[in-house]
Amino acid sequence: MNDATPRGLPHQAIETDVVIIGAGPIGLFAVFELGLIDLKCHLVDILDRAGGQCTELYPEKPIYDIPGIPIVTGQELVDRLMEQIKPFKPEFHLGQMASGLRKLPDGRWLLSTDAAIDIAAPVLVVAAGGGSFVPKRPPIAGIEAYEGKSVFYAVRKMDEFRGKNVLIAGGGDSALDWTLNLAPVAKRLTLVHHRDGFRAAQHSVNRMRELVSEGKIDFHVASVKALHGHDGRLEAVTLASADKKEWMHEVNTLLPFFGLTIKLGPIADFGLNLHENLIPVDTAKFESSTPGIFAIGDINTYPGKLKLILSGFHEGALMAQAAFRICRPNDKLRFQYTTSSSSLQKKLGVA
Ligand SMILES: Cc1cc2nc3c(=O)[nH]c(=O)nc-3n(C[C@H](O)[C@H](O)[C@H](O)COP(=O)(O)OP(=O)(O)OC[C@H]3O[C@@H](n4cnc5c(N)ncnc54)[C@H](O)[C@@H]3O)c2cc1C
Repeated sequence: MNDATPRGLPHQAIETDVVIIGAGPIGLFAVFELGLIDLKCHLVDILDRAGGQCTELYPEKPIYDIPGIPIVTGQELVDRLMEQIKPFKPEFHLGQMASGLRKLPDGRWLLSTDAAIDIAAPVLVVAAGGGSFVPKRPPIAGIEAYEGKSVFYAVRKMDEFRGKNVLIAGGGDSALDWTLNLAPVAKRLTLVHHRDGFRAAQHSVNRMRELVSEGKIDFHVASVKALHGHDGRLEAVTLASADKKEWMHEVNTLLPFFGLTIKLGPIADFGLNLHENLIPVDTAKFESSTPGIFAIGDINTYPGKLKLILSGFHEGALMAQAAFRICRPNDKLRFQYTTSSSSLQKKLGVA
């Protein structure tokens, strides 16, 4: 626990060298470059797993332009990056939105998340890609009143749905995966989708259909039209079929999985200089116009910028050198190769 007032630090604040917003491929590789020079990192991501666009948008698609790896899928690349940064023990705060930023009297940054975590660091690295992935809200009147109480866009703990009448809406991988996972936990599980076709892995669709034919879950080709309940507690929904037939369905919990949209989100209010929702940086350090705040990967802009993973890796390497000078102003930074430096190899656990 930290002292409170003199340095303006909240009691429970975590102190570290570098706090990174975004655990996409670029935030992950930054951990490696910072780790080599002994800078410790905490990462915050709204998603419940690392990987950013690679994991969320194209986990099974092959990438062909990662130097030295002729072919690698989005998920494999993220798995390899996670393996590569393991020696540096980064700490992840997943499922949390980086929502507030202020400068402490001692010059450090204090980043706050919507899960009430505060992280103090001399360096903030924004590796937020196109922004945070947020679930698409279905166009059902009054749904906001139920959100967080009986309408959820993500499953944090399966046990919270034990013994409940659960309705899942959607036809993609998330809808199908959670249908299969929650079927044994829920009292009764119903899947609804507006058509009898899915954009999900075929084996999940097959398994879902087996459960339906075994009478273990229900599936309706239908959409949710209206919600009924009190004080955020859902009691029933109105379902409507394509031929406009409507009926009431008793339910305690609705899980709509209608995909994700990307929004810049709270970073827009951090007081950073923005150009068309991107952060302009210098190309020597990848620092924004606010000292101590860096931007790497898809979120930054500079003349000639290419939104490629390999560009973000380079940006992370240069950012790390500049971050070192801020975090360790009295220390000298020696340039070393991983091939020949026994001290770097020791840090990597290979010497
Ligand atoms: C279909 C597709 C194919 C692609 N193919 C290639 C390819 O072949 N080669 C290539 O080089 N590039 C490719 N790209 C581009 C590549 O994926 C991006 O350049 C790369 O993902 C950028 O990485 P990043 O870490 O900067 O951002 P992202 O991957 O977008 O990660 C940013 C992370 O920050 C999080 N975040 C943002 N704001 C907040 C906040 N306020 N709080 C908490 N978390 C936040 C987000 O949730 C996200 O996880 C492709 C992209 C797509 C969509």
